[in-house]
Amino acid sequence: MDVFGDGISPFKSVKRHLWPLAGCLVGQNTPFVIAIWCGPTKDPQSVDEYLHDFIEEFKILRDGFSFLNRNLKLKIRFFIADAPARAWIRKVNQHGSYYSCERCTIKGGWKFRRITYDPTCEATLRTNESFEEQSQPQYHNGTSTLLSIGISMISQFPLDIMHLVDLGCTKRLLALLLKKKASKFKLSKESVGSLDTLSGFLYHFVPSEFSRKPRPLSQWCLYKAVEFRRIFLYDGFLILKKQKNKEVYNCYLLLACAMRIFLDPELRTKYGEDGHKISSDFCIFSYDVLGASFVVYNIHHLIHLYHDILLHGDPNSFSCYKYENNLGQIKSYLLAPGRTLQQKCVE
Ligand SMILES: [Zn+2]
Repeated sequence: MDVFGDGISPFKSVKRHLWPLAGCLVGQNTPFVIAIWCGPTKDPQSVDEYLHDFIEEFKILRDGFSFLNRNLKLKIRFFIADAPARAWIRKVNQHGSYYSCERCTIKGGWKFRRITYDPTCEATLRTNESFEEQSQPQYHNGTSTLLSIGISMISQFPLDIMHLVDLGCTKRLLALLLKKKASKFKLSKESVGSLDTLSGFLYHFVPSEFSRKPRPLSQWCLYKAVEFRRIFLYDGFLILKKQKNKEVYNCYLLLACAMRIFLDPELRTKYGEDGHKISSDFCIFSYDVLGASFVVYNIHHLIHLYHDILLHGDPNSFSCYKYENNLGQIKSYLLAPGRTLQQKCVE
């Protein structure tokens, strides 16, 4: 089973937050709710309390249980979550800290009011053992209770491409061209208008298999993760080529090539090492061309993505996509803020 944890705020007018803990059997696509915490603060105050009942139940089920006349034992494959939730559950620094890389001991630098990483710096890689021994004490904020049930805190917490690449790297590249703040990469109103026209033209050629069709690039702030993914895998080759900032386009090409290799089973087997080299080059090239402020947590972790792919295979199999869709369904069951958990339970 894979386990997913994340927080949602279903109501705009009331401070009420939910933290579902969901599970999904390996090979299936429909997550189920294991437990839900509900409260007025953004996170449950204690991660140990949040996980306590789940851990106790897992201890019983891992020793064996009977289901449809079969004796089964429950095993956990991955814990899947976005970066803040992964850090909170594992009791390590959040992504804006000096020591926050999940895979190596690199120290970030404070530049342009954010933590950035030198892409040429090589640091010692973290292992399950070094994590357990807390060999870099600055990285840890405590000892996770998941260690008590034998969870490997590095290899069982794979990097999630939905937040890392689609909502991370691709969104950052588009932001350079489209955000309101003036910069040397920002496109003029006329250029954005012509790209919007191009998106409108592509709308009619996108097949129904895509859940969301192209919409104007000027609405990029409203895009969902799947729209960023469609842009970097498909439309971007045409749309971004038409704009004048070749530095951004060349960075996009490196990212898009690496991800095309990682996401295609055949290309991944044949050219996985090349994909790793290209994703590392993307970090170095973007540092040189777009500036040090571009290489933040998400960009740096691209260097480590291939190690997870080597260990676990298809990055889609450990992404947040199916769980985020499930969170959307949980929201849709809630009609009003009163008795939030009860509404979910009677659904
Ligand atoms: Zn690192």
